[in-house]
Amino acid sequence: MVNIYTEKDANLSRLDGKTVGIIGYGSQGHAHALNLYDSGVNVMVGLYEGSPSRENARNAGLTVDSVAEVTKASDVIMVAVPDHVQKDVYRDEIQPNLGPGAALMFAHGFTIHYGFVAPPPSVDVLMIAPKAPGHRMREHFVQEGIGVPCLLAVHQDATGNAKEIGLAYAAGIGCAKAGVLETTFKDETESDLFGEQSVLCGGVTSLINMAFETLVERGYPPEIAYFECLHELKMIVDLIQQGGFNYMRYSVSDTAEYGDLTRGNRVIDENVRSNMHRVLDDIQSGAFAKEWMSECDEGRHNFLRLRQEARTSRIHEVGRGLREIMPWLNPREIE
Ligand code: NDP
Ligand code: MG
Repeated sequence: MVNIYTEKDANLSRLDGKTVGIIGYGSQGHAHALNLYDSGVNVMVGLYEGSPSRENARNAGLTVDSVAEVTKASDVIMVAVPDHVQKDVYRDEIQPNLGPGAALMFAHGFTIHYGFVAPPPSVDVLMIAPKAPGHRMREHFVQEGIGVPCLLAVHQDATGNAKEIGLAYAAGIGCAKAGVLETTFKDETESDLFGEQSVLCGGVTSLINMAFETLVERGYPPEIAYFECLHELKMIVDLIQQGGFNYMRYSVSDTAEYGDLTRGNRVIDENVRSNMHRVLDDIQSGAFAKEWMSECDEGRHNFLRLRQEARTSRIHEVGRGLREIMPWLNPREIE
């Protein structure tokens, strides 16, 4: 069993008199900065010169400066820039300004676990990884005063206080209200990559797309295929989230349940299991991380081409037309 901490285990006053520097003001950064600020913590935001987010942060009442200056002024530094730029931002601006005893924090273990960043032994290195997109986390905090769960991991405990700092930080961003699960950088990084590749992003989009194409190839109207294979998925997933597979199966028809129990593992068969093992092998060996970092270093040509192909796929074209007639979905189109 993992340790799960809540507000009673967290002491926000551990951050009294300290400055927390949030590097980056994107999905995670803006939510961390604003939630901490609303919790009464002294926050600064570090951004590169010319970042359009500088003005947003200032308009929200936050103090903004360069990454170097914010690092110098901060006792706790949360690195909330994209994983693939962390190595350069750390080397050029954070590391030269990092004082002994500082707490260097991450929202995902990627750069530390794979060794792209190697902080000196004189600092605490820890992770608070909220298990939700930043915008969702901020909305929860503002509208309902609740938090999203997060993971806590300590990679290096120079001061002996790393965990307490992490718990205080989790309280400040609202996560301690929901639950702080203790883990390691290795487990967080590898399970996170595996989850997004095999199920959440890669697995689910490939499954939807292949089913959609199968129906269309066999002459079914693409609009019907879209509703069956993509649109309805959310309602099924909501039931699964609420009560697991049992509740979903209780709610669908017996016909659907029989089809599920007899056909599901024909679609997702033992070949898929071995594919998943190979995907996990690449994650564990560091091959995926190395490939992704080289892709970024070499100008992301392959990534951008794949992204463009996916954005102009048939399921996207069909979906755009259908989402237009369902304004209650609050459709968002990315071209
Ligand atoms: P975003 O891409 O949303 O935001 C990145 C921010 O960093 C932006 O404000 C960007 O500036 C800024 N930035 C980019 N380059 C630099 C630089 N050289 N110097 C200073 N600032 C820079 O990132 P995310 O919030 O998605 O990711 C941040 C971290 O959080 C990652 O480690 C990620 O894995 C982790 N994470 C993300 C989750 C999510 O919900 N997205 C969930 C859990 C963890 P500008 O605003 O000008 O573009
Ligand atoms: Mg994840």
